[in-house]
Amino acid sequence: MNTFKYLPVKTVKEACDLLSQYGEEAKILGGGQSLMTLMKEGFVSPAYLIDIKGMSELDYIRYDKKDGLRIGALATHRAVETSDAVKDNFGMLAEMEHTLASVAVRNWGTVGGSLAHADPASDLAATLLALGAEVTLTRSAGDRVLSMDDFLVDYFETALQPDELLTEIHLPISRQGQGFYYKFAQRATDLAVVSVGVNLMPDPDQPQQCRDIRIAMGSVGPTALRSKRAEDLIKGQSITDALIEEAARVSAEDAQPTSDINGSEEYKRELIHVLVTRSIKETAGRAWTP
Ligand SMILES: Cc1cc2nc3c(=O)[nH]c(=O)nc-3n(C[C@H](O)[C@H](O)[C@H](O)COP(=O)(O)OP(=O)(O)OC[C@H]3O[C@@H](n4cnc5c(N)ncnc54)[C@H](O)[C@@H]3O)c2cc1C
Repeated sequence: MNTFKYLPVKTVKEACDLLSQYGEEAKILGGGQSLMTLMKEGFVSPAYLIDIKGMSELDYIRYDKKDGLRIGALATHRAVETSDAVKDNFGMLAEMEHTLASVAVRNWGTVGGSLAHADPASDLAATLLALGAEVTLTRSAGDRVLSMDDFLVDYFETALQPDELLTEIHLPISRQGQGFYYKFAQRATDLAVVSVGVNLMPDPDQPQQCRDIRIAMGSVGPTALRSKRAEDLIKGQSITDALIEEAARVSAEDAQPTSDINGSEEYKRELIHVLVTRSIKETAGRAWTP
């Protein structure tokens, strides 16, 4: 590993000032679960390492019934998994966290680090895309808020600029529905071969009718992807087996998998078909079971 200057900070202002001073020469250190491996392997060699783990102002999970859920970037996966506020209001997120890596990794890895790392197989990115989350990016000059759709850019690339810190994830109350995350992996807590997250908003006035739905797919493209064509098929409709089958078929077409050691492109499209079918059925079951 190359030598670097270690800079522990306690506030967002300190971190942003250092980022604006050092720009691309600096890297933020969260829980270090991904970054340390990249540095040991020589894939990244920052001259300055800004350690934000001691920054308590970004370590929170808050729920408000008008605003929704706000999670500070330094909340760990384990904190999200075990939070009653998350379990009671956005249960799909807590369920997903239970399947992310081992407890040891979940105890150190932060939600901010997970999103900034931008692994196309990230369970968190696919789940938050399905949930219609927004992220706050902060620099010395101020904040900007982006949708997950705009935040995710490419393989291991996000909209974060070198002088920006990811500070908060917001799940708007309007997105509180019934969700389900289905991860297909070699072993339960491995990175996904393919994953699907579905978040469905039932129409309160029409039984069995879907007001809105988001369908996100992980590990089948440069970033987590949505199948907007499948969503449009289901929005405003009564959910039937025929409609689910058509949505699953369209989702498999919209996925962009590549063949690798985990399976061929065709195999992964077939997995998407199966997982979308199961996820919509599961969410619909949860939405309309009294
Ligand atoms: C053994 C193992 C198994 C894993 N399995 C899974 C899995 O099944 N599913 C899954 O989704 N993930 C998995 N992961 C990935 C894991 O979720 C991430 O390593 C972890 O969440 C990263 O968070 P961190 O705080 O440790 O980030 P770090 O490693 O500290 O940082 C990662 C990147 O994000 C940047 N960064 C960190 N915080 C911020 C911030 N607030 N603002 C801007 N940039 C920031 C860093 O500069 C770095 O580029 C696994 C990891 C390991 C080591």
